[in-house]
Amino acid sequence: MPAVQVFEDHSPSTETARPQPAWLAAEPAALILQPTSLCNLDCTYCYLPARKLKRDMSPTVAEAIASGIPDTWPSDGVLEVVWHGGEPLTIGVTAMRELLAPFEQVRRAGRIMHVIQTNATLISDAWCDLFDEYDVSIGLSIDGPPDMTGNRVDWRGEPAFDRIVAGISKLEQRDIPFTVIAVVDTANAGRARELLDFLASLGCPFVGINMEEKEGANKHDGTPTIDQARGFWRETFIWSQGNRQLKVREVEHLLEYLALPPAARAARVLVDPIPTIGWNGDTVLLSPELLGARSEKYHDFVAGNVLTDPLPTIIGRAAELRYVQEFRAGIERCIATCEFFAHCQGAYAGNRFFEHGNFLATETEHCRTSVQAVVLALHDIHSERSIAV
Ligand code: SF4
Repeated sequence: MPAVQVFEDHSPSTETARPQPAWLAAEPAALILQPTSLCNLDCTYCYLPARKLKRDMSPTVAEAIASGIPDTWPSDGVLEVVWHGGEPLTIGVTAMRELLAPFEQVRRAGRIMHVIQTNATLISDAWCDLFDEYDVSIGLSIDGPPDMTGNRVDWRGEPAFDRIVAGISKLEQRDIPFTVIAVVDTANAGRARELLDFLASLGCPFVGINMEEKEGANKHDGTPTIDQARGFWRETFIWSQGNRQLKVREVEHLLEYLALPPAARAARVLVDPIPTIGWNGDTVLLSPELLGARSEKYHDFVAGNVLTDPLPTIIGRAAELRYVQEFRAGIERCIATCEFFAHCQGAYAGNRFFEHGNFLATETEHCRTSVQAVVLALHDIHSERSIAV
């Protein structure tokens, strides 16, 4: 899908899909799949409530997902099928092959690509064979050198760093590229250059920075303040100017946005429904973090199950869901009140719910530390340079 869509109705008019509200895309850029709920690690900031339970996706559910991808998807580019967990690799190579098999026809036709988001600790030659065979893109999680990665521990509380680096070495031996997600907390917010130097030394070409947030089951209190985040992004912009071999997601997004013609910068983007499909086929919309969450007001956030309904039908029901209706109203409030909206486009539903208990709220920690602070940091740099001139 294009990075920026103009604000208009792309509603399908098939028998299986109801008309879409004009603000929500009928077609997602990615499907998020949960091959298993289990994780072999117990990171202190993890938001997954059921990560100690082993509930694996069956090939029947994978077949339903694959066969439910309409012939018209993707209308542009390639649909990403992101295997997220739990830790996907705990399911084992044989079981993963059974989940990937139903997608082969669409993958070989070039319509989808697989992505596995892993903690890297279980990567072996057998997994590398599978990555090669199915042309899987690898995203892995590491937060920097050993002391910066201290929140990533196993169920005995032992640091996972050495096992993560062993997994990365295996990828390097097999010439398999990878990208990184790094979590930054209060303790590490002043160490941007160290983090980026470390990731560059691993041969990582692309990193997404997740400022720690209060989400789901995360009980760790490590969210940076907006000033800490602003300092982090300031250092990151300066580092990035001299080190283009490693691109930082948030820097690239802002620079891409600023490079747009003025009309495109002002355009509203259709919200991606981000269908997230659990091990049993249950599907939630708008935020992967809502999978497995419960609330008296919104119940289980489930919009449907792929065993009984095709994905376009589930997405077509979005407008009936209370949390989706509220999120839409929350975005309208952002438009009315927030000067960062054009770049932000309203951010993520999950942050609103986990911080405020509803979807009508506007500002969240995520927008302060990962949207507003990025823009303000670039502004700081420009101000300093114009004063120096
Ligand atoms: S920065 Fe926050 S308040 Fe502003 S548009 Fe984004 S989500 Fe809404």
